[in-house]
Amino acid sequence: MYRVIIIGAGIVGLSIARVLSRFENLKITVIDKNPDVGWGVSKANTSIIHPCHEEDPDKHPLRTKLCLEGHNIWYKWVRELDIPNRWPGEIIVATNEDEYHVLKHYLELARRNNVPGVRIVDGEELFKLEPSINRSSIAGLYAPSAGSIDPVQACIALAENNVDNGVRFVLGEKVVDIVVKDKHVKEVVTNNNVYEADIVINAAGLFADEIARMVGINDYIIYPRRGQYILFDKTASPKPDKIIHTTPTPKTKGVYVLKTIEETLLIGPTAEDLSIEEKEANIVTKEGISFILENAKKIIEKLPPMNLVIRTFTGIRPEPPNGSYILRFHEEPWGFVEAAGIRSPGLTAAPAIAYYIKNLISQHIDLKLKKKWIRIRKGIIKIKDLSRIERNNLIKQNPKYGRIICQCMGVSEAEILEAINRMRKIGVKETTLDGIKFRTHSMYGRCQGTFCRPLISLIVSRETGLEPWKVSFKGGNSTYGIGFVKELFMKR
Ligand SMILES: Cc1cc2nc3c(=O)[nH]c(=O)nc-3n(C[C@H](O)[C@H](O)[C@H](O)COP(=O)(O)OP(=O)(O)OC[C@H]3O[C@@H](n4cnc5c(N)ncnc54)[C@H](O)[C@@H]3O)c2cc1C
Repeated sequence: MYRVIIIGAGIVGLSIARVLSRFENLKITVIDKNPDVGWGVSKANTSIIHPCHEEDPDKHPLRTKLCLEGHNIWYKWVRELDIPNRWPGEIIVATNEDEYHVLKHYLELARRNNVPGVRIVDGEELFKLEPSINRSSIAGLYAPSAGSIDPVQACIALAENNVDNGVRFVLGEKVVDIVVKDKHVKEVVTNNNVYEADIVINAAGLFADEIARMVGINDYIIYPRRGQYILFDKTASPKPDKIIHTTPTPKTKGVYVLKTIEETLLIGPTAEDLSIEEKEANIVTKEGISFILENAKKIIEKLPPMNLVIRTFTGIRPEPPNGSYILRFHEEPWGFVEAAGIRSPGLTAAPAIAYYIKNLISQHIDLKLKKKWIRIRKGIIKIKDLSRIERNNLIKQNPKYGRIICQCMGVSEAEILEAINRMRKIGVKETTLDGIKFRTHSMYGRCQGTFCRPLISLIVSRETGLEPWKVSFKGGNSTYGIGFVKELFMKR
């Protein structure tokens, strides 16, 4: 039996855990410093499963291959793991002659990468294909295979399925050291514990370079590249059905305008190179917001009014040297494996990266397939997605489905209770509001939780024994003010 420790419960680490959990001679533990899964880079991105006609096979042959393979695996995984998804296709919109030439370049890449159905569309056909595109646009490159998934729900689904297949999770512990003995990895040290390991997989996203340095590997630095977003309420219109975006640049795939899985309107991101000290600079800036609005306006006929903005947020890309993924099994120290520098299209490529890492490991140890492996996971039943008859039947069985807690998103008490149970199942030590939000999409709507958060806190308090004013957004001290109000009240 080989003890495998995966550092990082992002989309990459969790995908690797899924693929490795098929082997009976691996005992897998996933460690993450966050209190829950998917709270790193995987939480805040554009959520596109890219068709991969924007990947250049000459510059990045491995990235291109993994993007194409990952895209195909997601078709299967979203069904097996019940991950919210949609496959509307995407259009790169050209607004002038220069951009039209850019379309031709990506059309050629589509041909070389064998991306199906990609074609240039112009004139009335363009506006018929996507009526919300700005009428001054001159053409678009349509890629019908583009899709979008809910990235945090994907992480949660993978984690739940991993637990069903024997993977253990250690959440809320930061890896601070890796002990090497006789040129082999031996122990992973966290701020709380020491875990013995025969194989250590570094899937630590933005911090993979810091993990590598713990075993003396110094040959790369991961730089942060920030992306800011604006999210509009689901009543905002127009909302393109197709995913549309401006022409890509060497740094980014452009500014996107898309309808999210929850039918809100998302625009962004920016692409700002930050310094090495700014890996956690999750701030939204005035310049960033102006940049997004200016670019989005070029390709969409009309932007919704700003009073329909419900949130602005930021994601930070882990940029490796030359944009190349770092995927390797080290002989020295033996057993140190890296899935590092997974920048965009890392969400798309993650399942293929997982198989690539499995193949690297299988070159060093004999992997034995399990006789029984659970492929399927079911998500939380959402009362709002059911027909009237189904809804009534469910409420008869469990009246808590009839008690709607989040009015904006139509989320019931039963769904919140289910989320709390599922968090326990994967080893979440402290039930957080964000954990409930990502699992149920409560607090996602127009009021962003202003109305339902106190009710949800009371439910969490009842179920966990935590005092309501200690229920936090993200664990620890990140309470949202009830505690402060209580303190003021007591002082009076
Ligand atoms: C703005 C933006 C837009 C993007 N858009 C897309 C897109 O549309 N499509 C697409 O395919 N890709 C996209 N990407 C890329 C994609 O999001 C990433 O490639 C992917 O999420 C990387 O996943 P990861 O698992 O490597 O990293 P992470 O999700 O960051 O996971 C790493 C984990 O390691 C943990 N960790 C770090 N250090 C330690 C430590 N010392 N101890 C314990 N745990 C540790 C972190 O807490 C984190 O949870 C985008 C990225 C950004 C930022």
